[in-house]
Amino acid sequence: MITVTSPLLPDFEEFTALAREIWSSRRLTNQGEFHKRFEEALCRYLDVPYISIFTNGTIPLLASLKALEITGEVITTPYSFVATSHALKWCGLTPVFADADPRTGNLDPQSVERLISDKTTAILPVHVYGNPCDTEAIKRIAEHHGLKVIYDAAHAFGVRRSGRSILSEGDLSTLSFHATKVFNTLEGGAVVCPTAAMKHKLDNLKNFGIRGELCVEEVGINGKMDELRAAFGLLNLRCVDAAIAARKERSELYRRLLGNASRVAFTERDTATEHNYSHFPVLFSDREERDRVYGLLLDHGYHARRYFYPLITDSAPYDTCRGADATPNARHISDRVLCLPLYHDLQLKDIEKICTLINNC
Ligand SMILES: *Cc1c(COP(=O)(O)O)cnc(C)c1O
Repeated sequence: MITVTSPLLPDFEEFTALAREIWSSRRLTNQGEFHKRFEEALCRYLDVPYISIFTNGTIPLLASLKALEITGEVITTPYSFVATSHALKWCGLTPVFADADPRTGNLDPQSVERLISDKTTAILPVHVYGNPCDTEAIKRIAEHHGLKVIYDAAHAFGVRRSGRSILSEGDLSTLSFHATKVFNTLEGGAVVCPTAAMKHKLDNLKNFGIRGELCVEEVGINGKMDELRAAFGLLNLRCVDAAIAARKERSELYRRLLGNASRVAFTERDTATEHNYSHFPVLFSDREERDRVYGLLLDHGYHARRYFYPLITDSAPYDTCRGADATPNARHISDRVLCLPLYHDLQLKDIEKICTLINNC
């Protein structure tokens, strides 16, 4: 079975050499040497001022909401992985759902503006498939209404627009280094932040809110990344440029082979952006056709995924939230989308087979 993604792995011998160092140091976690080196390497690679690494990509959302002291209602998107909305609920916040741009799946700024109430304090958009949101429009709305912006950038590792990291947009951006993402540390994640003071706050929040040996400053959580995974991340960072280049080559092959098949359309991607090719989504004319192709590919050993389907607002915790019943564009894209297998060492002949199956279906 060919799965929709497959993890990027560093050289095993290099990893065991670093593991041996960790064994002899006996320093396994609590922001040790590899934690520090990995944060520095990430800042350089991503070209961002400060980063705080975490044990997964969900705790960074919780910690960001706490760090910015968000209260009341937060406007977010139904077109995402459910962790985005879960983070709001876990912080006791009220998610309000705006619609998506039908061409990209990203949050539609105009739809956001219509939902702002006197309880709204923040916007939580997602850079869907690593394609940047309309950050300028979101910034204008946020400034006009005095709202904070946290970007769920779980898909957007390394993405740049007009030469600048997309992770510098908004008040904070969160990353996931889960095994299924473009860059992984098995499980892991991070918050990208603009100042040393904010990094300090996040470092404290992910360590139970403890300062020094005797002082508990605030209600923190355990969100720390251990030394083994930080070492793994340091090594994988050396491989990620080649992996992104391989993803690009595979995406371009898909586009060439599917380009003339009138039954698929592509989501729009910003042309000023250096993409990371995190997914290869295609759009069919309706849900029945999409599901038929999904089943056909599965019958031939290709497990494509319907990302994101169903909408977050179709699940029980969210179906009665404000805005949940009025996102027709998000529903339209969700009903038609299929993400085809895409990863750095996917065989080109498998892409050819997948495209032949789709074109002849
Ligand atoms: C993967 C993902 C997350 C959660 O990250 P984990 O590392 O799995 O906790 C959050 N938001 C989006 C959009 C994701 O794709």
